[in-house]
Amino acid sequence: MSEQQPLVDIAARFPGLKIDLKYATADNITGHPIYSEARCLLHPDAARALAKSIAIAEVAGLTLLVLDAYRPQQAQAVLWEACPNPEYVVPASRGSNHSRGTAIDVTLLDDQGNELDMGTAFDEMDVLSHPYHPDVPLTAQRHRLLLNAIMFGGGFVGITSEWWHFEVPGAADYPLINDLFTCISSDKSDGVLP
Ligand SMILES: [Zn+2]
Repeated sequence: MSEQQPLVDIAARFPGLKIDLKYATADNITGHPIYSEARCLLHPDAARALAKSIAIAEVAGLTLLVLDAYRPQQAQAVLWEACPNPEYVVPASRGSNHSRGTAIDVTLLDDQGNELDMGTAFDEMDVLSHPYHPDVPLTAQRHRLLLNAIMFGGGFVGITSEWWHFEVPGAADYPLINDLFTCISSDKSDGVLP
């Protein structure tokens, strides 16, 4: 599993899947787009797990909304610059599992297409983003448990600091991938996407 494999284009593989790559928009912690392209890519192992999670969500009348997947290493550096807190952002020098194609950020939509209340927004760098934090309201806890069950059923594992982040087991053993698309750095905050 350590050899570099071409990543799977998730939008092409799963045409019905909802995808909103937050780092390709201004709706992220930096307040400006970081990705030059809204390309949702995953390692084939993660794409296989995602296929199962999509099917599990469907039998529960829910839909996954993908918020991030493969992340260029250059983007990781921009995020680290914006939030140099190792609890929430992996230093670019170590490398994020997103830059290995083995991690995905997701939330759930109900049958009307509305996001389920998870208690915090995506990328909220706060203890309330920790799964099972006691101060998170009951309804949001239940929604997080639903999301966990759906992702675990596909074969993903969660982490202790972010309810939206899941990865394949052994995600950090996969190689970092050379950047597949370019990024918009913070000094070009007015950069617009094509
Ligand atoms: Zn993540």
